[in-house]
Amino acid sequence: MAEIDRAGGTPAVPGDWTYAPAPESRDIVHLRDRYGLFIGGRWVEAAESYETISPSTEETLAVIGQASAENVDEAVAAARTAFADGWSSLAGSERAKYLFRIARILQERAREFAVLESLNGGKPIKESRDVDIPLAAAHFFYYAGWADKLEYAFPNRTPKPVGVAGQIIPWNFPLLMLAWKIAPALACGNTVVLKPAETTPLTALLFCDVLRQAELPPGVVNIVTGDGRTGAALVENDDVDKIAFTGSTEVGKAIQRRLAGSGKKLTLELGGKAANIVFDDCALDQAVEGIVNGIYFNQGHVCCAGSRLFAQESIYEPLVEKLKHRLETLRVGDPLDKNTDVGAINSAMQLEKIKELVESGREEGAEIYQPACRLPEKGYWFAPTVFTNVAQSYRIAQEEIFGPVLSVLTFRTPDEALEKANNTPYGLSAGVWTEKGSRILWMAQRLRAGVVWANTYNRFDPTSPFGGYKESGFGREGGLHGLEPYLRFDE
Ligand code: NDP
Repeated sequence: MAEIDRAGGTPAVPGDWTYAPAPESRDIVHLRDRYGLFIGGRWVEAAESYETISPSTEETLAVIGQASAENVDEAVAAARTAFADGWSSLAGSERAKYLFRIARILQERAREFAVLESLNGGKPIKESRDVDIPLAAAHFFYYAGWADKLEYAFPNRTPKPVGVAGQIIPWNFPLLMLAWKIAPALACGNTVVLKPAETTPLTALLFCDVLRQAELPPGVVNIVTGDGRTGAALVENDDVDKIAFTGSTEVGKAIQRRLAGSGKKLTLELGGKAANIVFDDCALDQAVEGIVNGIYFNQGHVCCAGSRLFAQESIYEPLVEKLKHRLETLRVGDPLDKNTDVGAINSAMQLEKIKELVESGREEGAEIYQPACRLPEKGYWFAPTVFTNVAQSYRIAQEEIFGPVLSVLTFRTPDEALEKANNTPYGLSAGVWTEKGSRILWMAQRLRAGVVWANTYNRFDPTSPFGGYKESGFGREGGLHGLEPYLRFDE
C-alpha cells in the first residue's frame, strides 16, 4: 500500500492510490505433466502432442494430445455406443440428476477452475471467478431443469434427441462455451464429442474429472484436444448428427460449405462488430462504465464486444473525455491478481492480428489514444486503446479486431445511428444508452442484432437466447431456444 502522507498535522491520506499486489494462489490447481484424450470415459494417448502455455508468462503448463482423425472417429464411436446403450432412452429426470451433479461440482470446485482458466487463457481472475465459472454452473443448473420437461417446452410435438453432437469451441470463454454446448445437448438426450481450442484446453480437461465425480456414464461426453485439424476431422466424420461451432466467420463458412446437403444439423456462432449507441439523454457516467465493460472485458476477446462506439454529436466531447479519464484507471497485468482489469492477450497470433489492425487504423488516419501503462516484459499484452476520428470505411470500423480496441464514431439522429449501426456484415449484438424507454424499443426493433442490451452491456443469463444474424451465424444458444438445435421432431 502507498505511503501515508502525514504532512502538516492534517488527517492521514494515502500519498498515492496504486494498488498493492493481490495475487490469487496457484496452489489449488494440480496440473499433470501431460494429458491424453478423454474417450469412452478413459484417457487415451495421442500419437502427437503439443505444449500449452500461460499467455501472461509464456511458461509451459502441460503437454496436450493432438487428436488424429482416427482418434476423433474413436471418440464418435464411443459417443454413438453411449447414445444407443441407454443415454438417449434414460428418463429425463435421471439425465437431470447428472446435470445437477455437474453443476454442483463446478460450484464446489469454482476456485480451482477460475485459477486454471486465468492461467491458461490470460483473463483476469475477477472475471473467471465472477463471470465464467458461475455462469458455466448456471447453464448446467438451467438445462438440468429442462431435461424432464421437453414435452412441455414443445407442446403437441414429440421431441427426440438428435444423436451424436460434434462441438467445436473457441479460446475466449473456454469453460463457459463448453457449458453452453454440453448442457443443452445432454439435457435433450444426446451424447457429445467436444473439441476445445488449441490454446485453452486445460479447463475442458479438468472438466473430465468433474464427469468422473458425477459418475456420468462413459462415452456420453468425450473431449478431443488438438488444433484445427482435429476440428476439421470432427466435421468430416459421417457418424456425427449435428455440429455446433463457435469461432471465426471464416471457419464457420468452411464448415457450412462442407455440411451443405449432408442433412446434418448445424449451428454457427461467429464473429461480431457490435454498435454501442450512446444518446445525449443517457446517464453519461453509467454509459462510460458500460462502454468500458463492453470492449475491455476479457481483453475484447468477445464476439459480442461493443467495439464500435456511436456517440451522439452533442455529447461526443464530454463522453470521450470521461472515457479517456476512465481508461487511465484500468489496471493491466497479471491475470491472477485480483485487482487486474485487463489481462493478457490469448496468444502471440492474436496479438499480431490486433497489432496489424491497429496499425491499419493509424495509417488510414484515425487518432489513437492509449493510457500510460507499463506492460509486463514477458507474455502477450496490448494496452487498452481508443480510436477517434474513425470513418465507417476504415478496417477498424469494419473488421473484428477481437482485442481491447474501441473505434468511436458519431451520429446526430436515431435514424442515422441505426443506419450506421446496421452497416456491417455482422449482426450479433448491440447496446443502446438512453433514458427513453420508447427509444430503446424503437431501436431494438430495427437493429439487426441477435441481442440488444439497453443501458447495460455484456450481460449473460442462461435463460436468455444468444445468437446472430448475417455473418454472425445462425441458431440460438441459451434459453428455451437453445434446446431446439439438439432435438428432432419427426414422429
Ligand atoms: P477459429 O475459428 O479458427 O477457431 C475456433 C475453433 O475452431 C477452435 O477450436 C479451432 O481450433 C477450430 N478450428 C479451426 N480450424 C478449423 C476447421 N477447419 N474445421 C473445424 N474446426 C476448426 O478462430 P481462431 O482461434 O483462429 O481466431 C481467429 C479469429 O476468429 C479471432 O481473431 C476472432 O476474430 C474470431 N473468433 C471469434 C470467436 C467468437 O466467439 N465468435 C471466438 C474465437 C475467435 P484451434 O483452436 O485449434 O485452431
